[in-house]
Amino acid sequence: MNKSQLTLIRRVNTLLIKRFGIPLRPQKLPNPLEMLIATILSQNTNDKNSFRAFENLKTHINDWNELLNLDRVEIENLIKQAGLGKQKSAAIKRTVEYLNDKYGSVALKINSNTENEEVLASLTDIKGVGIKTASCVLLFSLGRNICPVDTHVHRTLNRIGIVKTNSPEKTFYEINENFPENIAHSFHTNLIRLGREICKPNIPACGVCPLNKVCNFKEKCIENVKSSKPIPFMLLDNV
Ligand code: SF4
Repeated sequence: MNKSQLTLIRRVNTLLIKRFGIPLRPQKLPNPLEMLIATILSQNTNDKNSFRAFENLKTHINDWNELLNLDRVEIENLIKQAGLGKQKSAAIKRTVEYLNDKYGSVALKINSNTENEEVLASLTDIKGVGIKTASCVLLFSLGRNICPVDTHVHRTLNRIGIVKTNSPEKTFYEINENFPENIAHSFHTNLIRLGREICKPNIPACGVCPLNKVCNFKEKCIENVKSSKPIPFMLLDNV
């Protein structure tokens, strides 16, 4: 990113913190394997449903290795609440088989000195694990300064004018080339909150947006002052 993009990211981070605060993180970061599975479950559903599916899956097994003995349909039945059962159960099944082949058990061992690029390349080798899921493991479980990009982050960054891209993946690579130190977690988490509550896909509530003055979106809806209720539960810090 160039200097003006970096300046805008820092400014947006400050404004979001002013409105939403610094997002809390657990003292002990979530286990990387559990994060990987929880993130697969979180695709295209809300945090509550994916958390229920994750808890249900977890309570039915004593150990993640037991997933090797369940067939895909059994996994699908356990994760029903998360939706897209066929697709997500297949991704989970492939993930545990991949890890078992690679490490001799269902575990995700990532050394603290392994580069982000290497972790991303290795995780996205698993069919069904995309760059967003892999980068969530890096941010939420390994505490790396990397900003995952989902549809909310992609949409808001393009509206604000920090990037001009046509896919979340392109947005991810552009911003993470040199993301400003130490702010990825607050920036990512607060931007998702902004996207869910204020900068919604159809009619953004620009009239109550903390980024109104720095946002370059040409179709702002200044007259819209109706934000959605805060959603207090954020899945990936609570796995
Ligand atoms: S001003 Fe409007 S378009 Fe810009 S970030 Fe805020 S809600 Fe989104």
